[in-house]
Amino acid sequence: EQNEKDSLYIVLNYANEYFKKQLLETDEGKSIGLSYFKERGYDAPIIEKFQLGYSQSAWDSLLQDATKNAYNEDLLEKAGLIVRKEGDKKYDRFRGRVIFPIHNVTGKVVAFGARTLKKDDKPKYLNSPESDVYHKSKILYGLYQAKGAIRQQDNCYLVEGYTDVISLHQSDIENVVSSSGTSLTDEQIKLISRFSQNITVLFDGDAAGMKASLRGIDMILEAGMNVRVVVFPEGEDPDSYSKKLGTSEFKAFLKEHTTDFISFKTSLYAEESARDPLKKAESIKEIVSSIGKIPDGIKRAVYLKESSKLLDIDESVLVAELNKILIKDR
Ligand code: ATP
Ligand code: MN
Ligand code: MN
Ligand code: MN
Repeated sequence: EQNEKDSLYIVLNYANEYFKKQLLETDEGKSIGLSYFKERGYDAPIIEKFQLGYSQSAWDSLLQDATKNAYNEDLLEKAGLIVRKEGDKKYDRFRGRVIFPIHNVTGKVVAFGARTLKKDDKPKYLNSPESDVYHKSKILYGLYQAKGAIRQQDNCYLVEGYTDVISLHQSDIENVVSSSGTSLTDEQIKLISRFSQNITVLFDGDAAGMKASLRGIDMILEAGMNVRVVVFPEGEDPDSYSKKLGTSEFKAFLKEHTTDFISFKTSLYAEESARDPLKKAESIKEIVSSIGKIPDGIKRAVYLKESSKLLDIDESVLVAELNKILIKDR
């Protein structure tokens, strides 16, 4: 088992070096991949830091090179680098895409995310399949590069995508990780909590993304961590908005717009239900259910008090509702 994992680490590291070389040293890589990254504003140091790469558009560029270097096809397939079809057809999984290597917390490459460069090509991002060394529910993109800064700042920014992580680094913000488009898992929350008890979620500025993230956040509360949020203007994500504002304005924006999660959620619901008493009852249940996730009784009490003001409802009503939930969960 350990031998098999070691072989995977070795071949994934080889592939990472190969993709980097394609980006920086081949005509196709330079004219297509590197110019794409330049257009996105990524300079040489950031490309080096995140070990960005490029996969040739040919069917079997990596397969041929790997074979020359004595890597066998079974291993390449297990690592998700080649695809084998019935008959004996086999080809590179990633072709004509820019490559974002995904590291585990100790810095070993365990998978790749690969973005198409063509508009409307599907999928936009193609990822490695799961393997013995890559369980996507247990990996956070950028954690390896972020862990020192997370501990130092005692806060972890959570964003949606690869490019959000990289752009924040370019804006001099290094305590940032991405769950890569999927909702956060318990294992990922535990990973973050090794370095800090504070998470700041940066929402993409679209309603769908926000409602989906709201649900995931209760899990962070349950883990006893403090959650803050920043909402971006509609149509913007941390990548696009940091580019738009530039480093110092972007940092100021984050500072100004960081809100405690429970207060944020309560205000959101309070607004919605201001004119509608029936909605208000629903809102109260929704807010109290989030507060009920918080393990610390003192924190719960603080939030009950604040929420009763924001919702304009007697605190005793919230307390009664909370007690119902706590008894049910026991
Ligand atoms: P870009 O700025 O390059 O368009 P993005 O990160 O803003 O990328 P989103 O559409 O916001 O892209 O998606 C957020 C994240 O979700 C991506 O970075 C990627 O990790 C993941 N993702 C998006 N589309 C797919 C897909 N089709 N398959 C797998 N993962 C995806
Ligand atoms: Mn999005
Ligand atoms: Mn996005
Ligand atoms: Mn984006």
